[in-house]
Amino acid sequence: MPIRKDKRERYVEVEVSGPREPLWVRCEACGELIFKRKLQENQYVCPRCGAYFFLSARERIVSLVDPESFRELPLPAVPEDPLGFADQMSYRERLARSRQETGLNEAAVVGEARIADHPVTLAVLDFRFIGGSMGVAVGEALYAAQAHAARARTPFVFVVSSGGARVQEGVLALLQMVKVVAGRELLAQNGVPYIAVLTYPSTGGVLASLGSLADVTLAEEGALIGFAGPRVIEQTTGERLPPGFQTARFALEHGLVDQVVPRAKLREELAKVLEVLAEEP
Ligand SMILES: [Zn+2]
Repeated sequence: MPIRKDKRERYVEVEVSGPREPLWVRCEACGELIFKRKLQENQYVCPRCGAYFFLSARERIVSLVDPESFRELPLPAVPEDPLGFADQMSYRERLARSRQETGLNEAAVVGEARIADHPVTLAVLDFRFIGGSMGVAVGEALYAAQAHAARARTPFVFVVSSGGARVQEGVLALLQMVKVVAGRELLAQNGVPYIAVLTYPSTGGVLASLGSLADVTLAEEGALIGFAGPRVIEQTTGERLPPGFQTARFALEHGLVDQVVPRAKLREELAKVLEVLAEEP
């Protein structure tokens, strides 16, 4: 079912209650209290109303790959806070908070895994970490994963959950668009397929570079897919946008994605695509 953006659930981790072990979460769409384990079993889709909760990168990986098959690759070391940036808080402080909140070092998690026994190289963005935004660290991580996929000749699977380029790194963040497109070219040169999975949200410089260059593009049901937000576009163009603008279905009808897939079927659909790609020509 299409989910209204303003009803989208926050991550379960920040919605928990209970004295020690977080057991229950409340669905913001329908108000139902849900047993957390039940929600996990249901792939973080509300069992009552079908609303999609956000997935962290690690939850996404668990939901897509064969059990115990993920082997994480180290993220390349990069200089931090190259511009000495500060808005309401310093960028260094923002990074430190994101690390503490997510347990991740950066907004990307990359590694090798198997999906229905097909080896893949996987890159997943985590929206909790400064909006899944792509700065130098994420750009380098994606490029390293692409280079790994090219060497290992395993299909590259990229799960997008991002607001775009990381503004705190200015033009250095924008340059990552070039880098990951070069990485995409590396895959093509080595005959390695690239599958993108667009989720909520897939926007800005990540969609405008690597996110829209896949051989096969799947969109999760409920994904938001676009460059700038609808409000910005309406204000800039002075025009009203068509209904359903930037939804996964809209992207499908306009040829930007190949298929819209419910979360519960994503693993299966990826397996099908990988099966076809693995066939000898
Ligand atoms: Zn619900």
